[in-house]
Amino acid sequence: MAGKVRMLFCCMKELSREEQKEGEEMGGSYEAAIEGLKKLLSEKEDLKTVATAKIEQITAELQKVENGKVEFDPVEKLKNGFITFKREKYEKYPELYGQLAKGQSPKYMVFACSDSRVCPSHILDLQPGEAFIVRNIANMVPAFDKTRYAGAGAAIEYGVVHLKVEQIVVIGHSCCGGIKGLMACSDDGTTSTDFIEDWIKIGAPAKAKLRAELGEAEFINQIIQLEKEAVNISLGNLLTYPFVRAGLLTKTLQVKGGYYDFVKGTFELWSLDFGITPTLTA
Ligand SMILES: [Zn+2]
Repeated sequence: MAGKVRMLFCCMKELSREEQKEGEEMGGSYEAAIEGLKKLLSEKEDLKTVATAKIEQITAELQKVENGKVEFDPVEKLKNGFITFKREKYEKYPELYGQLAKGQSPKYMVFACSDSRVCPSHILDLQPGEAFIVRNIANMVPAFDKTRYAGAGAAIEYGVVHLKVEQIVVIGHSCCGGIKGLMACSDDGTTSTDFIEDWIKIGAPAKAKLRAELGEAEFINQIIQLEKEAVNISLGNLLTYPFVRAGLLTKTLQVKGGYYDFVKGTFELWSLDFGITPTLTA
């Protein structure tokens, strides 16, 4: 299956380049383009099979055009996206991609929300190979728990122990649906979702803390504070992983909180002083 997809992408790439070249040579005139094609095929009979396939493809694409607008095709979007990436990035930076083919050595591990508006690679201009990224609902880091959160634990273990990242950054964001859910969800243990509430309640201590500090009436208006405080809970949870604690003690690792406000277009970064000390042994 993967082979088929790859082959298709390669064909698409060739088509795109040739079409572009043909268009330029013909000066964009429809009549000249058709004449040019006829002339070429009369000179090179063996190209007729290839030309037929291409013409059929163009016909199929044009049939989707309505009122001068091409209908959105989700599969086509992905194929074209890859073609653009390959042409503009992969082929332009062979040294980078050649290096990445041998391995990765990212300096950052980033926790970010799955929200489609907050991709850390985009907002922080992180290039391939620079960040080991985990994305989940409301950018939560659960406390060490082998039975419930193996996915998160495996990522942290791999990032810290094997990749030896130097920074773990947990990034919250504005208008977070997950944090909105945390604010709204009941505190009596009842749930109406299979997974969502159970997951976002990782941030429950942030909710309890703010509610105690602000009082109920003020608390419900402070969604941004909850979005940021939930990040702090995740930073605290990172300390429950022995390898994270070890990295902090030896100063080979730092943990940071971040907050991206896409309404204002701002980004904050902060550190928490955990004041951790090595475990004393008798
Ligand atoms: Zn979110």
